[in-house]
Parts: sequence; C-alpha cells; structure tokens
Amino acid sequence: MCGIIAYTGKQTASTVLLQGLKQLEYRGYDSAGISVLSRGKLRTWKAAGKLEALLHLLPTKISGKSGIGHTRWATHGAPSDLNAHPHSVTVSLPDDQNRSNNPESTVTISLVHNGIIENSEQLLQQLQDQQLQPQSETDSEILALTIASIKSQQSVSLLEACRLALLQVHGTYGIAAMEPDSSDIILARNGSPVIIGIGEGEMFAASDASALSRHTREVTHLEDGELACLTPDGYQVQSLNAQPSIKTAITLDVQSINHQLGDYAHFMHKEILEQPATIARTLSGRLDHRFNTSHLGGLNLDARELLDIKRIKLLGCGSAYYAAQSGADMIESLARIPGDAEPAAEFRYRNPLIERDTLYIVVSQSGETYDTLAAAREIKRKGGKLLGIVNSVGSTIAREVDGGVYMHAGPEVSVASTKAYSSMLVVFALLALQLARIRDLSPQQGAHIVQALEDLPQLIEETLAQEEMIKTVAASYADVSSAFFVGRTSAYPIALEGAQKLKEISYIHAEAYPASELKHGPLALISPTTPTLVVLPDNDLLEKSLSALEEIKARQGPLIALTNSPDKRIPKLADHVLKAPQCHPILHPMVMAIPLQLFAYHCALALGRDVDQPRNLAKSVTVE
Ligand code: GLU
Repeated sequence: MCGIIAYTGKQTASTVLLQGLKQLEYRGYDSAGISVLSRGKLRTWKAAGKLEALLHLLPTKISGKSGIGHTRWATHGAPSDLNAHPHSVTVSLPDDQNRSNNPESTVTISLVHNGIIENSEQLLQQLQDQQLQPQSETDSEILALTIASIKSQQSVSLLEACRLALLQVHGTYGIAAMEPDSSDIILARNGSPVIIGIGEGEMFAASDASALSRHTREVTHLEDGELACLTPDGYQVQSLNAQPSIKTAITLDVQSINHQLGDYAHFMHKEILEQPATIARTLSGRLDHRFNTSHLGGLNLDARELLDIKRIKLLGCGSAYYAAQSGADMIESLARIPGDAEPAAEFRYRNPLIERDTLYIVVSQSGETYDTLAAAREIKRKGGKLLGIVNSVGSTIAREVDGGVYMHAGPEVSVASTKAYSSMLVVFALLALQLARIRDLSPQQGAHIVQALEDLPQLIEETLAQEEMIKTVAASYADVSSAFFVGRTSAYPIALEGAQKLKEISYIHAEAYPASELKHGPLALISPTTPTLVVLPDNDLLEKSLSALEEIKARQGPLIALTNSPDKRIPKLADHVLKAPQCHPILHPMVMAIPLQLFAYHCALALGRDVDQPRNLAKSVTVE
C-alpha cells in the first residue's frame, strides 16, 4: 500500500520520480506528489486523486537531480491536496533561543511516508508544547515536524534527526526524507518495504522493486529498524541504535516484477486470461510421475518431519484467506490432516496457542501484507513451524519464513486478485498431494491427481472460452443492489471469493453464506430483486445443494447456478447457468474461480467502474 520513490544522481529527478510513481500507482491512488531539490531549494507539488491530477499541475520543466515521490492510500485524513505527501515542513526555534546565533534555527524538510504512526497523538502533544502545529490531518506530517524539530533543536544531521525521531515512534513506516542544499536522501523502514537500487553515480529507492527495474538490477532491502543515507555515489546503512549495518546487494529477477498492460483494457482482464500460463508456471517442475506425488523443494521439511505434522493452520487476509479456506479443505480431505484457516490479523491478536506438531502457513501475494507478516512473526517468536506461500520473490515474508513455496504467477497489478488467487489454490493442491502421498493416499489415487493437475491449464483455457456468455449474464445482473453467493462445504470458500470479487470491483453488495445457513436467517432477504449465485460442484452434496435452489426459487429469487455437473435439473431450476468443466474434485476451486472472476469483471465494466483501481482500496496492504 502506498508507493514511495526516491532518486539522487545525474538524471532529471522529476522524470525518474514520475516514471516510478506510474509503476507504483496500483499501490495507492488517493493522491500523488513529488519534492525535487532545485537550485538548493526543495520544491513540492502534490494533488489529490490519481497521478494524472499531479501531472496536470507540474511545470513542463523541473530542474533538479534528486527528489522523492509518493502515491498515497489514506489512513489518517481524507484524500485531499493538503494531506497528500510529500509533507514539506519548516520549523523555527522560538525567539528566546537566540535564533540569530544559531544557523540551524530554521529547518525545512520534506518527507514521504508509508504506514501508520500509532503514537502520533502523543508526538503531536510534544509539538504543540513547542508551538508547532501541523497543517494536514496526517500522522505523517507529525513525523516530519518531529524530525524537523529535533534537527532544529539539536543541530544534528538529517539522518541523525530521523534516527532520534524514529526512536520515539510506535507504528509502521517506510520513509524517504530530504532537506534543502543537499542531494542526500534519508530512508528508514519498520514494517513497510524500502528497497535501495544501486546505480553508477546515481542511487534509487522504492517501496516496490518494479519501480526500480528499468534503472538497475542491483538492489538491497532495508530491514526493519534500519536507516540509510543515499548519496549519488553510494549508500550507508545503520540501525536505529546507530550501529553500521553491512548490506549485501542482490540481483533483481526483472521478468518476475515487470508489468505492462499491453493491448488489454485492464490489468484484471489480462491477469484473468493469463491463468492457463500462470498455473502452468506454478506447477512447473513440481509434479513427480515416478512416485505419483508432488515435490515442493522449498518446504525445507523432510518426509519424516512432514509425517510428524498433526494439524495445519493457514493464515491470510482477503482473497488469500479465502484461498486458505479452500487449502485447508484440500489438505483435510486428501491428506486427512485437520486443516483450518483464519484471518491473519485476528489470529495474531488472540494470543494464539502455538503447537509443536502444527504446521503454520502464511499466504500473501505481495509477501508484504502487514497483518500476515505480523502473524508470521508471532508464530516464529513462539517457536512454531512456519512456511510461507508468496508470489513476490524476495519479499519480506519470503525472507523471514523458515521455508515456503513461490507461486510464480508473475506480477499482479490489478487490486482484485485473480491469477495470484488461483496460483495459491494450486500450491495448496500440490501441498495436499505431497502430504497425502506420505500418508495413505495410494499411488493410483496420486497418479489421478498428478494427471488432473497437469490437465488444469487446459481446463482453465476451456473455461475462459465462455467469456462472451458470462459477459451476457453479467450484463443482466449489473443493476442489482445486492446479491448472495452460496455453496456447501468445499464450495463455500469459492462462494466467499466470488462475493469478494463482485463487491470490490463493482461495489454491488454481495454476501456469501454456506447454502445450509440460508434458512437460518438470510432467506428473509431473498426477493425477486436479490439474485443468488449457487456454487454447485459435481460432488456428493449436489442433492443437498439443489434443495437450496428450490428454497430460493420458491421465494422468487433469481438464480444463477455455477456448476460442472451434467444434472438436468439445474438448468430447469436456475435462470442462468455458468458452466465449469468436469474435473477431479481437488480442482473445483480453480475451475470455478474463473467464471466468478469474469462475472465480477463484466458486472463492473457494465457499471463503468474503475476495475483495476477500485475506490478505497489499494494493492499490497502494508498497513495494519
Ligand atoms: N498514514 C499516512 C497517511 O495517511 C501514510 C499512508 C500511506 O501509507 O499511503 O497519509
């Protein structure tokens, strides 16, 4: 969430910053802004709204070879011009402190911040005691003023002022700061990613490697509790205790982070259509025909250790949490290990019991989801066995877990997850297979699943071919104000994700329930204007699920059935049928996800929504 970019070197800073912000805009689009050091002075431009609004504001030529930029996802204060970053603040010493003899008595700094300063009220009190008052409603400006006040009072460098201020801060931050008359950029990190890009005679920093990849492949990640000073010729890193840190540079895998829209209308559409290929990549090299199993090398657990696992706990947020629910179901039904999924943010705050024989798995597309990261750290601190399922290579979760699996889905830019969600499901299927084959799943049953997974990209292709039909159905429902999604057992998490997709990009209120729960309450809301989408996989529960259709039909509720069953009663009961191909039950969540993604996409399109950047949301939720 939120994009930060910083540059110091030989190029025109504004060009580098704006290119970077374009790459980062999917991480926050409430406002955008830049500060550039131009002839010794800091010049700042910022505007509420998307980057486009800032571009309209900028002069055609901005000289200056260092600067910082930001795209915001507001946490404190409305998305307004005033609350936009950078926050450029000037602090003067009170008159009684002999201003004339102290050249540091007036201090200006400019700061961009990603995260939340939790004790901003307390810091504000300290500032007000010094007659300092922020102009905006943001926690970030309070941090900027705190740094400037320390610098002004103690006559220290900007780096030292940042360090002293951050020692007083509770909360999360990735920051970049600068001052007039210096091309240095100060960076710091706690909980929000900051990556340094190393060039020749120039240095970069960003909250996401995708903003660096056009300039350099050599990068290093700041860790929590580290600060850095960038000059055009290099960088130095130290801890909050002022101890120097030795960093190792790594080489970016540019292919895994670059994203271009190409000829598509939206990243979401591109990412939906990419799924045959992304799923094939997730599977690649991981199926083992010899032993009819899968092999996930990064688990760092041998067969004996995997056999000792008595329970699996899966943790994620949003779509990753819904994928985890399907994952728990796959593991329990195939490997017969009790599996359970929980929202990561809830788990970490309920003082969870961590058990020796439970395997904990955190799931996050970006590998930076703050709540998931915090849950991972809690598990680690308590000595739990911890794995991560992550898409972004080298992300914080990937670096901090004991082992894990990369999804290899490639960069996902649309805020609404599609290809990362389906790749999460594929990883869970692979994991379930591996765990099952060291327990009591027979080689023959294993072989069926290996074959089914191998066929999956083709099945996804076939499902995508129905886009035109799904588009027509979606158009006839786009004007509803509320919809239900229901399914039983393994179909329920599929319904949850379907409802999530619809609400996040079309803004249609959508609620998911286990189909069996309808009669216990929600049925009261079924009416001729409230459609229900019933997820009906071809399994033992089909009969039971059909009775849910009957109950809804009896109340004149419009019905959409999403099914891969050939049962003839379904088209008779439902007003519309979305078809998925017949396949092994373990693949049901993957093949059924596709029509739901296309349904939500086309509803949103029919309503003229901003599909890739839906209101109030942003990609990669790096705040709590
Ligand atoms: N808390 C800050 C604000 O509301 C930073 C938000 C962000 O990460 O974009 O401005």
